[in-house]
Amino acid sequence: MDESKVLSPQEVERRRQSTQIQEKENEVFDDLKKETKAYPTAVEVNFESKGRFDTPKTLHFSDYKPRHLNDIAVSSSDSLLKTVCKILEELVVDDNVEFKAENQVIEELIESLIGIKMKFEGNAHTHRWMCNCQSDEEEADQTINETIINLSELTFTSIEEADDKLREKIKADLDALTDKEYKEYLLTKYKNKPLDDIESHTREVEAASNKITAPFYINDGKVMWGIKFLRLKDIMEANSYVSGIYEPKIKLIQNRKEHGIPLHKLKEKKAQEIKALQEEQGKVMLSYVEAMLLYSKDGVELTSQEKWKAYNEEVPRYIMDEVRKIFDNFRFGLNHEIELQCPMCGNAEKRWLQLSIDPRELLPVRNSGDNKTLPTVNELRGASRVAFYFGT
Ligand SMILES: [Zn+2]
Repeated sequence: MDESKVLSPQEVERRRQSTQIQEKENEVFDDLKKETKAYPTAVEVNFESKGRFDTPKTLHFSDYKPRHLNDIAVSSSDSLLKTVCKILEELVVDDNVEFKAENQVIEELIESLIGIKMKFEGNAHTHRWMCNCQSDEEEADQTINETIINLSELTFTSIEEADDKLREKIKADLDALTDKEYKEYLLTKYKNKPLDDIESHTREVEAASNKITAPFYINDGKVMWGIKFLRLKDIMEANSYVSGIYEPKIKLIQNRKEHGIPLHKLKEKKAQEIKALQEEQGKVMLSYVEAMLLYSKDGVELTSQEKWKAYNEEVPRYIMDEVRKIFDNFRFGLNHEIELQCPMCGNAEKRWLQLSIDPRELLPVRNSGDNKTLPTVNELRGASRVAFYFGT
């Protein structure tokens, strides 16, 4: 018998203890792993949308990696939003969550970017804005103001609070309808899912059944329009739609040859033509994005193409005004008023940060001089919800 295979009683004891030690170590290691599970190097973002859309209630994001900063820096304005979505998906450290960044609503995107910036860069944020006193200046002379905002002091509104406001508004609108009109409203709204008992479905019950995440309905007297929140993918779609139309036009100008005109004159002429086209592109982009708010027509869901057609040819203008008002009044997510003082004219004004912040301000930059992803003078001039649309 091979001596070495026989273990002495001491050796057996030593190994037994060592196994115990190993088990203890495993336990400690498990605890550590559990701690890692608490994501010490990640930021926890609790969305005000409370998991009502496609984004989970809570997500944990790690910091950007250097290659992400490169990806952002080299993205064209058309592809920036797509790039940011891809990066956000990579930063999520939670296991087993389903997160598609393109399904985020703009509010969720802003909250994600603010959360990451606060955790990994600190609370000081430079907000860029333009005072109205600059609007008459030539573009090259326009000055952009910078105001430092403390991100930890921002105020947010939850979707539940926004729901309450929405229900009050709907109740008031329904109260203004005659009984006959109200019945017609119900018949159209529930066309595809008829109510069991239409008589007991009072205005109170109907108003209470509404919430921000569900489509809401506006009747223009003939048609009942369903309206829904925008997702980032709608903005991307709008982007590719307008690029498809305007990029070939711009290329055509760039490649055009003209004889009998000095080169510098031709350059100037082309630059003007291109600028005019780009402005037009921005406007079409905005309209297209707005069209995507339309969800259904008389209870029938619309395709993107149908939405665009309906927006251009069928929806009365006042309905879109009403829709804009609704989205302004029932905000959730970042809901913060800032006071800005213009160093140029001294005028102080209040603005809603959620309307004037551009997500690009919140993105990390490779180095301090690398600010090509920041909004341009042109874009800041039209500061509004417009600013949310990357690539206009
Ligand atoms: Zn000013």
